[in-house]
Amino acid sequence: MKNKVYIAGLPRGGTTLISLLIGSHPEVMCMGETIYLARLNPKDRKCSCGKIGCEECTKIYNQVNKLKNAHMLYEAYGALDAIREPEKICGPDTIHSIVPQKAKGLKKLITQGVEGINDISNVFKRTYNSNIFVDSSKEIRFAKLLINDPSWLVVLITRDLRGVANSTVKAGIRKNVPRNIKEKFKTWNDFANNGKYLLSKNVIHVKYEDLCINPLYIINEIGKELGLVYKQEMFTENKAHHLLVSNRMANDFTGKISMDNDWETNLEDNEIYLIQNSVKNYFKYFNYSLKK
Ligand SMILES: [Zn+2]
Repeated sequence: MKNKVYIAGLPRGGTTLISLLIGSHPEVMCMGETIYLARLNPKDRKCSCGKIGCEECTKIYNQVNKLKNAHMLYEAYGALDAIREPEKICGPDTIHSIVPQKAKGLKKLITQGVEGINDISNVFKRTYNSNIFVDSSKEIRFAKLLINDPSWLVVLITRDLRGVANSTVKAGIRKNVPRNIKEKFKTWNDFANNGKYLLSKNVIHVKYEDLCINPLYIINEIGKELGLVYKQEMFTENKAHHLLVSNRMANDFTGKISMDNDWETNLEDNEIYLIQNSVKNYFKYFNYSLKK
């Protein structure tokens, strides 16, 4: 039986929302983005539960920090990011040191990274008695390996790319790190191509837009694969999670879901056409309609 869930998606693509909804079940625990867990010391960081130096995060960090593969996971994620977006300005949390020059080296690093994800989930299993654990790392290249492991359920979440673009720009302004969406085209095309591969395999594909309209139905479709039944009240119980890196939504999630489709008014026509023409496959593979 599957007892781990991996969320594959794009940043600003609804991954935090879906992981909190799946994690709202009493038998499920959110691990957050495991890619960061080996390196982020909770002692001077604010957890989504509100505490700085959260004891729950410290318990996990003290174990994960000792795992070699967990560090390789961090490096693998950093390398993929650096290869796809060389111009990106990295924050202090995303400094990494290994960028393989050859495809073979990258493949090996990704394989070690996935072993890291498994090692980290074993730490969670030893520490907590939840039955199911959710990783919201997002990175699709790891999902491609995890689909071969029967203990993992891979959920692919997609969102209208024009919504992702608009949300990326807004988050950049909020965090004071301007984001040029043109720099994202390589990442988005890579995601589309790997996503097409995942769709041909045993994954659950969820559209952010459908999730916002009917969350209980969608989450129960996922629950069926896990032997879980979700009820509406689970979403509103505001269960405490302990996430060090996540969307601000995780800090006070009360189950209120409103679809963000600001892009329809915020994006200029020329921006819309640029996105549609530069990342054509995304619209095609995930079935989003184009503006004529
Ligand atoms: Zn906490």
